[in-house]
Order: sequence, then structure tokens, then C-alpha cells
Amino acid sequence: MEQNSALARLEQVTEKIAAAERQAERDPGSVTLVAVSKTFDADAIRPVLQDGHRVFGENRVQEAQGKWPELKSAFDGIELHLIGPLQSNKAKEAVALFDVIETIDREKIAAAVAAEMKRQNRSVKLLVQINTGLETQKAGVAPEEAEAFVASCRKRHGLTISGLMCIPPFDQNPGPHFALLEKLGRRLELPELSMGMSGDYETAIAFGATSVRVGSAIFGSRD
Ligand SMILES: *Cc1c(COP(=O)(O)O)cnc(C)c1O
Repeated sequence: MEQNSALARLEQVTEKIAAAERQAERDPGSVTLVAVSKTFDADAIRPVLQDGHRVFGENRVQEAQGKWPELKSAFDGIELHLIGPLQSNKAKEAVALFDVIETIDREKIAAAVAAEMKRQNRSVKLLVQINTGLETQKAGVAPEEAEAFVASCRKRHGLTISGLMCIPPFDQNPGPHFALLEKLGRRLELPELSMGMSGDYETAIAFGATSVRVGSAIFGSRD
């Protein structure tokens, strides 16, 4: 069955992460696996929850609202990550549902998320997305603007930024992008690095990823 194969693939990914941690002389368990469940419905996700996995990623607020409130009430300890672009008119819903927002990338979003966290008296972990490839169509702060933006998040909006996230350009070797994110994180003293997807998570771990976002290698291809 499709569901059983998701569990088999989850186990394989978990083993490969452990091997990559050893290879990079990283502590066992130092890399968090964010299972990216976008496009898959609650029935496809439930077996993975029943197996004990708790950290998931979704890229659309509205899609996540259709499945995660139910799953969150059925399973304790879920940590849901928003890994797609956030519009400020969705900040309210995003702050209410997500535990981590990885895609803070402009003043307007920082302000909207800060206001909602205050209003809802809810704390959400925040990462800043960096556009390491300077792609015009891609979200994220340019690397050279990262320091000023993170400072503004803190000073203007009172936000704690926990780390950085990137999505390297499709058609490029991801290594230099991961290296750039790691260097920025070290310089800005931001310990968490979300980088690496199904095709390159082992590489990302070698470059210091503290979390990897893996979708199709667990849930199967999306079409
Ligand atoms: C879809 C998505 C992923 C997972 O991609 P896979 O190649 O299926 O592992 C990771 N990060 C982001 C931001 C995504 O949108």
C-alpha cells in the first residue's frame, strides 16, 4: 500500500540522515527531519504520525488549514513548519496554526507576524529566508541585506530570529548555496539552518544543516 511505502521511505531517509551526521562528525540526532506533506491529504499523513514522526512542513497556509487542525487535535506534539511564502493578509492564520515560520523575508511580513503573535499571545519560531541565488522570481532576502533585515526584525519588530533558510536555484550545484547560508548564519550568530530537500539533504547536512525539508523522498512524487 501507498501508506506503507511512505513509512518505508521515511525509515530510509532517517537512516541516510543518521549516516550523513556520522560522515560529517555531527552529533546523532542533531539534524531535524521536516517531512514536507504539501499536496498530500490527512489520510496520507496519518500513518506517518502514527509511526511517531512529529515535524512536518507545508508551503501554503490555506492548504494546511484544511488538514492540520484535525491532525493537531488527534496527535500531541506536532511541530508544523511554514516553508512557503507568506502573504501579510494570511499572518493571522499562519501564526495560529504554524509552530515555525521559515519564510520571513520582508518588513511587512515581520510587522504582521509580530502583531499577530502579540494579539494571539502565541510564540512562533521564526527563520529568515535568504535568496542565495539572487533569483528575481524567488522569495527571500538578498545575502548582503540579511544582517540589516535581521537587525530590523529584532529592533523594530521585537522578533527573535532563530535561524536562516534557503532554497538553492533548481539548476545549480547546491553546495555553494549551503556554504553561503552556513557562513551567514555563523556571522549573524543564528544557529539554525534549514536547507536541503529530497535531492540534496545529505549534501546540506555536510554543510551544516540543522534541519532538512524532505517531501517526495518520503511521500512519493507530487503530480
Ligand atoms: C516542496 C518543498 C520541499 C520538499 O521538496 P522535495 O524535493 O519534495 O523534497 C522543501 N522545501 C520547500 C520550500 C518546498 O516548497
